[in-house]
Amino acid sequence: MIDTHCHIDDPVYAPELDVFISRQQAAGVSAIMVPGVTAGSCESVVSVCCRYPRYLFPALGLHPEEVRSDYEQQLAVIKHSVDELMQVRSEEDKPHIVAIGEVGLDYHFSTEFKAEQHDAFRAQLGWAAELDLPVMVHSRDATEDTYNIIKECSAVCEKSYGRPLRGVMHCFSGSYETAMMYVAIGWKLGIGGVITFKNSKLSTNLCPPDGRSAVPLSSLVLETDAPYMTPVPYRGQTNESRYMSYVAERIAQAYGVSYDDVITTTTATANALFIEK
Ligand SMILES: [Zn+2]
Repeated sequence: MIDTHCHIDDPVYAPELDVFISRQQAAGVSAIMVPGVTAGSCESVVSVCCRYPRYLFPALGLHPEEVRSDYEQQLAVIKHSVDELMQVRSEEDKPHIVAIGEVGLDYHFSTEFKAEQHDAFRAQLGWAAELDLPVMVHSRDATEDTYNIIKECSAVCEKSYGRPLRGVMHCFSGSYETAMMYVAIGWKLGIGGVITFKNSKLSTNLCPPDGRSAVPLSSLVLETDAPYMTPVPYRGQTNESRYMSYVAERIAQAYGVSYDDVITTTTATANALFIEK
């Protein structure tokens, strides 16, 4: 199984990183994607991914909650790192950049920098278009604007490069309708610990009990958002990629398929989106 979103550069993992990595490998985690959130964090993402070049895969971007008045300087620094990684992308012993992310819109705590968030999001979707990279999108309390900006930038991408933008809605917990909107444009949904939470409606949103067809299993990828979003039964503890087995179990239950089907399908989707290209 592939963890498509894990903040393994978080200091909580630093003291025992080798042990942590071996534990994930032993549990069948075949790759981990590590998104950046600021210019500074992108630097630590690259350095941690340098240590495990074909196991940890970096994604670089400016997180919407980190967008402030200095966002243009931050973007310039991050773009420089993106360009550097693109140059060494085919070298076996160098970090292989798999995406632009995490980027998007977040109005949850503040809309003070809303215009700047839009600007930063558009700029980074432009990088993804130019470099033919997928995008890891974070959207909180901003469903409509996020979708509209993706659609708008994807149309520009299509016009300039003859292909739409592709990507994943990270930590998806939206409605059936929102899920299907993204499925319709070929985007994937990152499913993590939320689906195991007692009050979560996510599994019925993915597989409505009323006869509407389920969100295709082939549109889902697994993720942790570690160290956060730890699934039941480890909720409250530091998350680990191997705990995605509880997420996969819950998806299998909802779809009425085997655990192995979920692992095979989500791994193939994550590979096709991020690694094979
Ligand atoms: Zn994240």
